[in-house]
Amino acid sequence: MLEFANKRNLKNILKYFLKKIKVSPFSREPYQVGETILNFHPKQIKQLLKSESFEIKKQLSVSSFRISFLKKHFSVRFLLFWERCYQYMFSFFGLGPSIFLKSVLKDNKINDLEFNFLDILSCPACKNEKLTFDRDGKILCKKCSSNFSVNEGIYNFKI
Ligand SMILES: [Zn+2]
Repeated sequence: MLEFANKRNLKNILKYFLKKIKVSPFSREPYQVGETILNFHPKQIKQLLKSESFEIKKQLSVSSFRISFLKKHFSVRFLLFWERCYQYMFSFFGLGPSIFLKSVLKDNKINDLEFNFLDILSCPACKNEKLTFDRDGKILCKKCSSNFSVNEGIYNFKI
């Protein structure tokens, strides 16, 4: 299960055509918002998953009603109802600001899996990609010496 920020969301598409943003929501390059959020084109993420032998089973386009104007004028219950309806009917188009993808590694690839989870993570403090576990089971950044706890399989990268 994977969630990512979708650069090709409806709001960005409208802003792009109204010339409010310069970065095309249709290009494949990731688009950074602020200091920490990278937005990805859904096709780029799907292509990466497929190239690693994952089969995409389901797509869910979410947070479509996460708009301050709507949140100010409608109840959470009302917005959740419409969010669920929207997800059910329109997730296929992938136009929400967040996308969830359920994907499964193809059967013939499972035995080939030599996977170190730390290989895909980087230090949120210094961006270093060389992370390791220390003696206490915490994740340690070799570059800046930040360490991050692991509790019941949950990696806590809050800084
Ligand atoms: Zn670091």
